[in-house]
Amino acid sequence: LVRLRERLARSGSPLGTRLLAVLSRDHLTEDDWDEIEETLLLADVGAGPTTELVDRLRERVRVLGVREPAAVRALLREQLLELVDPSLDRSLATTPGVADDGSPHPAVVLVVGVNGTGKTTTVGKLARVLVAEGRTVVLGAADTFRAAAADQLQTWGARVGVPTVRSDRDGADPAAVAFDAVSRGSAEGADVVLVDTAGRLQNKAGLMDELGKITRVLSRRAPVAEVLLVLDATTGQNGLNQARVFGEVAGVTGIVLTKLDGTAKGGIVVAVQRELGVPVKLVGLGEGPDDLAPFEPEAFVDGLLQ
Ligand code: GDP
Repeated sequence: LVRLRERLARSGSPLGTRLLAVLSRDHLTEDDWDEIEETLLLADVGAGPTTELVDRLRERVRVLGVREPAAVRALLREQLLELVDPSLDRSLATTPGVADDGSPHPAVVLVVGVNGTGKTTTVGKLARVLVAEGRTVVLGAADTFRAAAADQLQTWGARVGVPTVRSDRDGADPAAVAFDAVSRGSAEGADVVLVDTAGRLQNKAGLMDELGKITRVLSRRAPVAEVLLVLDATTGQNGLNQARVFGEVAGVTGIVLTKLDGTAKGGIVVAVQRELGVPVKLVGLGEGPDDLAPFEPEAFVDGLLQ
């Protein structure tokens, strides 16, 4: 897997550049503090966390009597890291379970999010990571509203060498396709079933019904182990609104932040974790099959500050 730090550094974060420019001044004035605050806001860290960070940083700088740019920078790194919260459990629930009757069942991972955020691509990349770890995987194409979506998933499946369960007709019941995928996974003794879902946000009640039904129907075969919400890091506040809706309807257990290679607004990590109260577990760093990485708080913060 590519190193998050290198990739973020390559995308040339103005957050880091601007912050370091301010922090290289020997004595921070009121204007400098305003500039730090503004820079964090521009990077989508969010108003609440930004105020919190700047207040704490100022306090630490004052109490410790720190003046040197390098020392202030170290304190900033410390505060940013605290906001990202390295103590959160970012592991994926991908261990097969055992049903009441003693039979094993695959770990079911539902992947949800608005169309275009990178859901299908993420499912493909994640399948590849799991296969590389020696796990057996089945894909379920429960986005049945567009045949192209199932085709795209199937292409990923073929590329990674895992089977894709899909329906032949548009508009088939997504829950039925998901159920078939988990049934196949169970029958084949697969470790993980990754289910790609449709992401139409126009109708919140409809979305809730659909995801609720998928979860209910699947629970007859296997409980859903993980619900990953895919968010596009380049969409800023809009992404936060999506997070809010999916957080309400889908019981999200982890966030995948995609397209982090195309933005310097990495601060969205902080904002979205706050919003949902669940950790960012994976990040998308490009369109290729190897461009998915576990989210590492330390590497992320270092990348932001480069
Ligand atoms: P879906 O509609 O949510 O399933 O989204 P897709 O998986 O079809 O992705 C939409 C577009 O985003 C495609 O062109 C992908 O190649 C692209 N994409 C997905 N993830 C990433 C990423 O991490 N970085 C970049 N740069 N592009 C991505």
